[in-house]
Amino acid sequence: MPETPMPKSLAQITDTLQDVCVMERVSEPYVLVLFGASGDLAARKVLPALFGLYVRRLLPESFLIVGVARTPYTESSFREKTGEALNAGTLSGSLKADWESFARHLYYVPVEYGSHDSMRALDERLRELEERYGLLRNRIFYLALPPPLYEEVTESLGRAGMARTEQGPARIIFEKPFGDSLDTARRLTRSIQRYFDEPQIFRIDHYLGKETVQNILMFRFANAIYEPLWNRQYIDHVQITASESIGVEHRAGYYDHAGVIRDMFQNHMLQLLALVAMEPPARFEAEAVRDEKSKVFRSARPLDPGKLKERWVTGQYVRGTVNGTEVPGYREEKNVPASSLTPTYAAGVFYVDNWRWNGVPFYLRSGKRLARGVTEIVVQFRSAPHRMFDTVMSEAAGPNELVFRIKPDEGIMQRFYTKVPGSRLCLQQVRMVFSYQGLKGAPLDGYQRVLLDCMTGDRMLFVRQDGVELAWEILDPVIKALSETGFPEAYVSGTEGPEGADELLGRSGRRWRSLLED
Ligand code: NDP
Repeated sequence: MPETPMPKSLAQITDTLQDVCVMERVSEPYVLVLFGASGDLAARKVLPALFGLYVRRLLPESFLIVGVARTPYTESSFREKTGEALNAGTLSGSLKADWESFARHLYYVPVEYGSHDSMRALDERLRELEERYGLLRNRIFYLALPPPLYEEVTESLGRAGMARTEQGPARIIFEKPFGDSLDTARRLTRSIQRYFDEPQIFRIDHYLGKETVQNILMFRFANAIYEPLWNRQYIDHVQITASESIGVEHRAGYYDHAGVIRDMFQNHMLQLLALVAMEPPARFEAEAVRDEKSKVFRSARPLDPGKLKERWVTGQYVRGTVNGTEVPGYREEKNVPASSLTPTYAAGVFYVDNWRWNGVPFYLRSGKRLARGVTEIVVQFRSAPHRMFDTVMSEAAGPNELVFRIKPDEGIMQRFYTKVPGSRLCLQQVRMVFSYQGLKGAPLDGYQRVLLDCMTGDRMLFVRQDGVELAWEILDPVIKALSETGFPEAYVSGTEGPEGADELLGRSGRRWRSLLED
């Protein structure tokens, strides 16, 4: 048998891999109806992601994007507005040509969201466009709207008969947050399910679309060497961090009601926890993966309100300096009440009470206006059982760590000890780093990934009804207990958060990995 030559470079390795990869999927022809097309999310995330997919030839030959909102744009002013959002004026060469042809797929229909006549008129216009372009009635409704409008819009789509056409069911995408408590999430689901069945519903968590997040499952379940260590016997604790250096920006109205726990923990943070803690699914399929994530949530130890302080710390940022710029405190931000008690930072300890994780703390923290924007998962292993090298270890040395870096510089890092070269016996920690930047091929961004998956009908990265409700079940009592304790602790903008968060880990002799560490 001829010997396979050793690949010489990373580029060659990835080329070799192309042959064994599942083929890149291009979706069927469809119409994406973008509700809230005049809004912030549409301009900053959704339309750029769609253009990005178009440039990469991942959209089908025939597709239409129909912007929908109350603002009375015309088709040409909507194209112009989209061009501004994409900075189309600065494009040149093939990208400019791509923009010009992409713009021809953009249409716009002004509507009143709750009006039956408006929805009938929208349906008429969609039918007309579908006939003109020979498209099947393959429709996706993307609700890039403030959540209080979800029920109203779903109801009007349903009443106008648009939840399914004679050619099949439509898909409907909801942005986070899905409800603001268990009750509201359940009510919303009941209201949506009057017209749309669960398989038609796609609840977006764009964090799950990030390459490194998807990679957690591949890393755990495709490499036989880590899974035997992935349990209470070898893992001391897990830290999950999602810090931002920005403040509430223009979203104060929403944020002051939501606060960090609804905004970050209910969705992104608990989803990351589930990916780290879940059991291997029997198959790499949407329902099997989502079943395992739900089992993690069912095993989460409920909060004993008497032990709130042992498990949770919240904070609110005050004036300080971030990246050399002086920034206002949360209560000085536009549209934030001067007496607001909304937490902009939270750190919590979670326990997954099952065979694998019994007694292993999962420390989760997230906050705004911190020293640096970092999203990462740190798996900290137990120390070696017999510490024969204690006297020759450098002082700062800690235990072995595995870090999944989701933002910035996506990659994976393993920290371990080696001997310092030379005549003396001395140990130091070194890092073995895998960076996505070193690999050939540009990763899809989170929104591109989830949009593509919705178009191709892959539900794996979307949150199922039970997942959403279980997450609220875990956090509702926390939000209630915290709201009864009064003031979140003040922390200076540009720091690593409130001191109380350090004490949360410090009590057990542990410490957070610094946000400034690479
Ligand atoms: P916007 O506040 O920009 O609203 C989107 C559109 O909805 C507006 O352009 C407006 O269109 C319409 N609208 C706004 N308020 C009302 C109202 N009271 N009554 C009727 N129509 C209204 O929202 P975003 O684009 O920021 O967010 C959309 C969704 O995405 C939300 O669920 C949000 O939580 C979620 N999200 C947003 C992110 C962001 O960075 N913006 C990030 C993650 C999630 P018109 O007046 O033309 O009808």
